[in-house]
Amino acid sequence: MTATPDWNQLGDAEFRSRVAAFVQEHCPPSLRHLGRRPRWSEVGGWYTTLARHGWLAPGWPTEWGGMGLHAARHLLYIEEMERCGAPWMPDSGVRNLGPVLIAHGSDDQKRYWLPRILSGTQVWCQGYSEPGAGSDLAGLRTSARVEGDELFITGHKIWTTAAYDATHMFALVRTEPGSVRQAGISFVLLSMDQPGVTVRDIRNIAGEVEFCEVFLDNARTPLANIVGPMNDGWRIAKSLLGFERVWAGSPRKALAALWRTEELARRDHSRLAADAAFVDRLTQMRLDVEDLQSLYQRFAQLLRQGELGPEVSALKVWATETGQRASELLVEAAGGGGLLEDSGPLGAFYDTRAPAIFSGTNQIQRNLIARNVLNLSGKP
Ligand SMILES: Cc1cc2nc3c(=O)[nH]c(=O)nc-3n(C[C@H](O)[C@H](O)[C@H](O)COP(=O)(O)OP(=O)(O)OC[C@H]3O[C@@H](n4cnc5c(N)ncnc54)[C@H](O)[C@@H]3O)c2cc1C
Repeated sequence: MTATPDWNQLGDAEFRSRVAAFVQEHCPPSLRHLGRRPRWSEVGGWYTTLARHGWLAPGWPTEWGGMGLHAARHLLYIEEMERCGAPWMPDSGVRNLGPVLIAHGSDDQKRYWLPRILSGTQVWCQGYSEPGAGSDLAGLRTSARVEGDELFITGHKIWTTAAYDATHMFALVRTEPGSVRQAGISFVLLSMDQPGVTVRDIRNIAGEVEFCEVFLDNARTPLANIVGPMNDGWRIAKSLLGFERVWAGSPRKALAALWRTEELARRDHSRLAADAAFVDRLTQMRLDVEDLQSLYQRFAQLLRQGELGPEVSALKVWATETGQRASELLVEAAGGGGLLEDSGPLGAFYDTRAPAIFSGTNQIQRNLIARNVLNLSGKP
């Protein structure tokens, strides 16, 4: 058996080519460049293949079965997987819950849950948002009552990605009766397979079922499934935001839309290249995407050095809005006939709407920049 290399020591190009070779060898071609979110029944095999080869959890430490990649290398891993067309997976357990457990879980919790996440015997969803508690997450009202050594949870979660396939949910719930805002919230783990849990699908703008509403009616979970101290869930939930915001600032969607627009311009030279206004906008878009790529590299470097500051909100806003403009140009380049023949441009258009909403909406990012970077108090 060949020894596992130290992934962080390989050069970027060598690392990228190893990821590409892995996808080429192990990912079924039918799953590549799928253009939609596959169900667990389709993608579970790929998940367990990654796990078997130690490739499932790039950001986890090696002692817990991860690849131990530092943050910038982790970004490279995700980028290369996407470039090679590896499919989206319901991997909230790997991406979100695992790092929380590793940082804040008890030894018993780590020993029990981490191997189950890795093996794919549990599929996790994230239960934070509620109707009336999205941007203002501290307004959440789902509550949990302690009875004996159990919690009884009642409330309504929404926009829960892939809850239709999840066996478990990690959720923020109010455990202190009468508490307000960030106080009195706990980070809990619960099984979806019980009478008190009802899942209802929500169809997105592209007509696909991507997320759900989850109704909790005295759903039960042992007190031992609270991660960190009771009523300290807010601090725990917030500890992961840095990486998410850099990732949300990746230029990949803008780049993909730009490449497709350039391809269309080459194919339909007489219609597009003869249009001076279009060429002007395409050139501007190229420059914008190049600027974005340099900014992204700069933030990836700061993340690697552990020096990420509140300015990262600007990256998220810039990347998501550049992605939207790039996809709008692609739709325009495809033209009416092109849109009928190929669903790709419209798919890219829809796909670039959501990133301006999740991981903190762009308006909220602008508020953060105003307050934490520009020191504007909002008072006259
Ligand atoms: C594709 C997708 C997947 C998601 N997956 C999950 C998931 O798995 N689990 C989960 O818990 N959540 C998930 N979410 C939910 C996401 O976190 C919320 O949509 C997000 O926090 C915004 O909350 P909201 O939808 O309630 O909008 P609201 O908070 O109601 O905002 C509505 C509008 O008002 C603006 N606004 C609100 N407050 C302010 C303010 N103070 N200043 C200026 N403007 C403001 C917002 O920017 C937005 O434009 C997902 C969302 C999407 C789009």
